[in-house]
Amino acid sequence: MRLLVVEDDDEIAEPMVRGLQRAGYDVDRVATGAEALAAAGADMVVLDLGLPDIDGFEVCRRLREKSAVPIVVVTARDEEADRVIGLELGADDYIVKPFGLRELIARIRAVWRRVSPGSDAVSSQSLGQLVIDRRTRKVFVGDDEVALTPKEFDLLALLAEDPGAVVRRQDILEDVWDAHWYGPTKTLDVHVASLRKKLGDPGWIETVRGVGLRLGQPA
Ligand code: CA
Repeated sequence: MRLLVVEDDDEIAEPMVRGLQRAGYDVDRVATGAEALAAAGADMVVLDLGLPDIDGFEVCRRLREKSAVPIVVVTARDEEADRVIGLELGADDYIVKPFGLRELIARIRAVWRRVSPGSDAVSSQSLGQLVIDRRTRKVFVGDDEVALTPKEFDLLALLAEDPGAVVRRQDILEDVWDAHWYGPTKTLDVHVASLRKKLGDPGWIETVRGVGLRLGQPA
């Protein structure tokens, strides 16, 4: 899936673009409203409202006039009015700064599921030797398919949303198991051990003591 990121602030745009690329998206980035309106071929637009040339709401309205491309609006102000105006002008969702990459990806996925039911925003993500295909829920290391249980797959896919970033144990339990998980956290350790074994290198899943887990890159 091809994303167009419209953001004038390099300090926000650059890590965002890198993160989205690591998560498996094709990303184009522009810094002005005029460039956003001239760009073509995006499957979804992530649109900052505070742009140097054209007001973000106006960009949103004009984008919507010429296409049905899904738009996720990024705003610096958590104001009801902004949200309402954005949605009235045709934005599909909005996200308030500051936000984390996982939160942004969750919004992108949710919007994509709504506009394009049954297809995942990113089908295949490659991280070195590791390939994760969310559409078919298949995982490969090199050419070899790795047979994972549903929970093992969900755990790996969650960590792969932001490779290298630490995901807290509690967040993993809530995300992969249940929104309100009060069971033994040993369950997670058992799945991690099994996943490491199946992936053939414990370095894929790194434990950050006292915090959580992250996807690693074995040498
Ligand atoms: Ca801005």
